[in-house]
Amino acid sequence: MKRRAQCCCGDVTIEVLDEPRQYGMCHCNNCKQRTGSAFGLSSYFKENDVRFISGQPSCYPLVNPHDNADQKRYFCGKCGSTVYWYVSTLPDLIGVAGGCFTEKPLEKPTYSVAHENKYSWVMVPYSVKKKP
Ligand SMILES: [Zn+2]
Ligand SMILES: [Zn+2]
Repeated sequence: MKRRAQCCCGDVTIEVLDEPRQYGMCHCNNCKQRTGSAFGLSSYFKENDVRFISGQPSCYPLVNPHDNADQKRYFCGKCGSTVYWYVSTLPDLIGVAGGCFTEKPLEKPTYSVAHENKYSWVMVPYSVKKKP
C-alpha cells in the first residue's frame, strides 16, 4: 500500500510504495528522547520503495548508545519532527518514523526492541516478538 509520512507542519513529506521490510517498537532511551514519547515506532523500507515528495529536512549524525550504530536522522527544520533516517546496520533500508503515517497508519509492529527498557505500564501484545 502507498502511504505518506509527514512532519507536524507538513513541509517534509515522503511516500512509501510498499509495506515495511522491518517494523518494530523501540523502548531505548534515544527513541524516547527522539519522539518525546514512551517508545519509538521504527519502520524500515527498501530504498527503491521511498519517494521524497517535499521539504528540505535538516540532518544530524549520531551513534545510538543502544546499539552503537551510526545513524543520520532527517528532521523538519521548522517543526522538529524526525521523519526518516539511515542506520549503518541496515544499509539498504530507510527508517521512517511510524507515527508520521497519519492518513493511513501502519499495522501493528512485529517486534519490540530494547524490551528490557520498556516502561512497566506499556502493554505489548503477546504476538509481538520481544528482542533485547
Ligand atoms: Zn515540519
Ligand atoms: Zn530505539
